Amino acid sequence: MWTIEIYTTSHDEMIDITEKVRSFVKKSGVKEGLCVVYVPHTTAAITINENADPSVRHDILATLNKIVPWNNRYTHLEGNAAAHIKAATMGSDRTVLVHNGDLVLGTWQGIFFCEFDGPRTRRVFVEVISR
Ligand code: ZN
Repeated sequence: MWTIEIYTTSHDEMIDITEKVRSFVKKSGVKEGLCVVYVPHTTAAITINENADPSVRHDILATLNKIVPWNNRYTHLEGNAAAHIKAATMGSDRTVLVHNGDLVLGTWQGIFFCEFDGPRTRRVFVEVISR
């Protein structure tokens, strides 16, 4: 298993980790199988979406902020309930097919680490499993 350490700089942000994940697939030597990307945090997430136009990231974060406002009479005493809800909505992992020694992603797809309660130091775990 590999670990990516991420130092987020904003309260909410999406960081493209596709090339880092791809480098682990290459290092693993696995030609056909699965790549699991997992985040061990309750206020961060992993998602796959467009990495060509940065405005997509901006729109996703802006819309999540509208749907899940920071202040909303939550009961969670730590005060970051919105971050937990966004993380639960987006999910803590993604599995990507590995074919011919590379990630199987669509032309416009990238793998993103999503921060919802930054800035913080975060970790992402990556495992590559052979068929
Ligand atoms: Zn909390």
